[in-house]
Amino acid sequence: MGNMGKTQSGFEDFRLRPELSQALAERGFTNPTPVQERVLSDENALLGDLIVQAKTGSGKTLAFALPILNEMDAGESLPRVLVLSPTRELALQTAQEFESMAKPLRIRIAALVGGMEMEAQLRRLREGAGVLVGTPGRVLDHIRRKAFDCESIHTVVLDEGDHMLDMGFRDELEAILDSLPSRERTWLFSATMPEEVVKLSSRYLSAPRWISLVEDTASHEDIAHRAYLIPSGRRVESLINVLLWEAPERALVFCPTRIETAEVAERLQGAGFSALPLHGDMGQKERNTALGAFRAGRVRILVSTDVAARGIDVEGISHVIQLGLPGTLDNYVHRSGRTGRAGNEGLNLSLLTPRDARTLKSLLRGHSLSIEWLSVPDSHEIRLLERGRLDRELAECEEQPSEMYLEWAREILGRNEAECVVARLLERLFAQRSSGFALRRELDREMEAEERRRFAKREGKPAARTGVRREETGGVTRLRLEKGRADGVEVGALLGILCRALKVDRREIGNIRLRDRFAEVELGERAARHLERYRKELEKEGFLSPEGSFSGRKPRPGSERERVSHRPAL
Ligand code: ADP
Ligand code: MG
Repeated sequence: MGNMGKTQSGFEDFRLRPELSQALAERGFTNPTPVQERVLSDENALLGDLIVQAKTGSGKTLAFALPILNEMDAGESLPRVLVLSPTRELALQTAQEFESMAKPLRIRIAALVGGMEMEAQLRRLREGAGVLVGTPGRVLDHIRRKAFDCESIHTVVLDEGDHMLDMGFRDELEAILDSLPSRERTWLFSATMPEEVVKLSSRYLSAPRWISLVEDTASHEDIAHRAYLIPSGRRVESLINVLLWEAPERALVFCPTRIETAEVAERLQGAGFSALPLHGDMGQKERNTALGAFRAGRVRILVSTDVAARGIDVEGISHVIQLGLPGTLDNYVHRSGRTGRAGNEGLNLSLLTPRDARTLKSLLRGHSLSIEWLSVPDSHEIRLLERGRLDRELAECEEQPSEMYLEWAREILGRNEAECVVARLLERLFAQRSSGFALRRELDREMEAEERRRFAKREGKPAARTGVRREETGGVTRLRLEKGRADGVEVGALLGILCRALKVDRREIGNIRLRDRFAEVELGERAARHLERYRKELEKEGFLSPEGSFSGRKPRPGSERERVSHRPAL
């Protein structure tokens, strides 16, 4: 248990009753996580209202379940505690976590979630349950039917508390709280706790003790962040490329809408991936089946709306993949928090158009989170990677081929056309593999357009060729070269080549922007003049084609040359 078990104390240092210690030991939990330690050791805090902020995956569920169960009477059959969760899936998961701890205490848990049979829930309530875990709508239903004794409840836990106080839940929440006359304690747990929520919480909590183990909500030591720039309108193709490239063990993909979630899952299935959707238009049975299959590892990719953004704990999610923008920084944090849980490491990927990328950057401003920025992998790169993978599969396979095939191989290798036969074999094997879509050119084009747009905006001019006057701007010319990073070009070397070819010193060369297949260079006036004279040099080395690569950039007759801004690289 990597980072999570940093606490020195073991569970035996806390006055937990033997049944709980036993249950913890059975699950293999020996040390409390930091948030569990803080809550368990603060006995005074436990008497009153509480706001607890701790990172995603840090064990908050047991941080409230343990002290609650520790003080309950064994065999308690009146509902004493109500836990509210924003989604059905989370409520079911939390009920399960409670159940595994409460069993030896003979305390039953009732899961009161929408979309599932009312009758079974009513039966459980009649039989007697000490802890109720549910979603607000269904809990309110039960309250209105007088299905349980509201007066016995003394503790309310709002898991994902900041979200529970959102507008979307507020009316139901107030109605629930108003019908619990004996409520003594209200606890709010979350990884994020915006200031507005803390202010708002005074409506429901009195003088809460605040326990916070979070320094910067955005950063999480076990989660690495990577962003892939993708061309607009090519989300699914980009996702497929990224999946081929990253080959995730188990991935949770977030989509912005239900419709897109369904479409993406279907297209992934069509492309041969093991994927299922999860969203609110599905029946609860289907939803449970999808999440269940994902938990059990029967399906490797779950494509979900934000219904799975908060609280969901699935072991072994190696990648969270966010298609598009998260809306808020907090949502980004919750989504990415589905990986990197319980001390394991995880990777959060964002697939963003160049424009979205800027929005995300501004969302993250002021936070200490570092993102690795990459362009979406292109099919030619994936092909190379797949080639390596196939090569390793064939060469490093543990199993010895059977004698029949060995003999056959020897026989082939003895022939003249052995090379052709092996090549054909590889070709057939390779044809079964996908190398995704060619996307890079589109992306490059879009990034250029985006930069032009930004530049024009800054200059207060329309996005078309701006026609900035040369003398005003110092007359910088942009030159497009037909070789890029993938051709082995490096910035330093290119600078040298340009200076040599154009017979200028390096002050005459401005920004060099290196892309995979091409490069863009800013030339000062002198260098631009020399270009007309010495371009043969660059043609010889393949940087320019003979007919003139000014094509796209060449000033139209009558217009001035375009100035290029010194922009920060993405
Ligand atoms: P959070 O609510 O903070 O996001 P969870 O309560 O869902 O986190 O817990 C995350 C994971 O850590 C769960 O799989 C849980 O079973 C596991 N876990 C909780 N407490 C411990 C512990 N003391 N030792 C090891 N694993 C734990
Ligand atoms: Mg939680």
